[in-house]
Amino acid sequence: MKKNEFQKSTANLKKALPLMMKHHVAANPANYALWYTYVDKTIPQLNVEMDAILKEFGVLSPVSSHHLYNHHIADKAEIDLIELKTSMEALATEVSSTMDDAINDTSTFSDVLNQSFDNISTSVQGTKNPTLEEVMPLIQELVNEANDIRHSTDFINKQLKNASDEISRLKSQLAKVQCNALFDSLTSIYNRGAFDKDLAMFCHAKQPFSLILLDIDHFKNFNDEFGHLFGDTIIKGIAQRLKQASKAGITAYRFGGEEFVLLVPNKPLRVARQMADALRLSISKMAIKDRRSGQTVGNITASFGVAELQEGDTPESLVERADKLLYDAKRAGRNRVMPF
Ligand code: GH3
Ligand code: MG
Ligand code: MG
Repeated sequence: MKKNEFQKSTANLKKALPLMMKHHVAANPANYALWYTYVDKTIPQLNVEMDAILKEFGVLSPVSSHHLYNHHIADKAEIDLIELKTSMEALATEVSSTMDDAINDTSTFSDVLNQSFDNISTSVQGTKNPTLEEVMPLIQELVNEANDIRHSTDFINKQLKNASDEISRLKSQLAKVQCNALFDSLTSIYNRGAFDKDLAMFCHAKQPFSLILLDIDHFKNFNDEFGHLFGDTIIKGIAQRLKQASKAGITAYRFGGEEFVLLVPNKPLRVARQMADALRLSISKMAIKDRRSGQTVGNITASFGVAELQEGDTPESLVERADKLLYDAKRAGRNRVMPF
């Protein structure tokens, strides 16, 4: 690295670190890269998006950071690199064990060759004119050994083919694993793990935010009447609505079974409550066709509990408060938002 490049790097790092601390960003390589690029201003679109989120919500959640990193920084080259590394490791292991076998086979072959030549020279020296019958068995032995080594080469080729198939399989598996870490497999929206991470960060940052918890009403009845697969369709439909309703910074997560949660940064209870009511209305208008019976199923509703971060709250106490309000909404007749 040239001297001025080095100076630029340290200057950027000196700018990035205080910003990261100010925004309660976890110190990991991806976040360093994100904030370094931000102060370096090499990707203008990244700055536009980060500024917009920071201006509106004051914080950048781990999930948003991950999203920005994946979109702007972890470009194709890096993703390819990760895959390549995994593949090469698998290939290296496979090839080295196959080569061990090959080395064993060839050294056996060369021992046999040496032995055969010894035998031939002994028999040639022993008799003045060795007959064809005397030499033939020795040649036959060599041919057999050569055959063996050809079989073992075929075997090595097969092993290498297996190794490369394995690499393809690992590649697609790796891509899946990278997704599974944050996303729910049924609905493709963020999962409980992503929620726990984001919630912990928001609470730690002591940045104002609200939380909307919702639970589908009498969901068991839909499962009982129309089957579990249709129940899944309802869950997916609601997840899509929540995802559409959540803008940059507001994130929807599947909390568990038929429960969802939204984090609404920098908005007071009153505003989050209004959002929840709009979602409630939008869900109540859903109509999903049951392919089995041909019937269109409506009357899908959900109950909501909304809570705002308060002084002294922990992630657990905040979720508990929203959960109690959700329970109140159920008791009060469902299809409603609490606090009233
Ligand atoms: P309430 O209005 O009080 O919430 O009633 P409910 O029937 O929705 O609540 P309950 O907790 O009794 O039942 C929830 C049901 O959701 C039970 C469970 O079998 C079902 N469920 C949970 N996860 C899934 C899922 O992924 N797919 C489907 N089809 N059903 C699920
Ligand atoms: Mg429930
Ligand atoms: Mg329910």
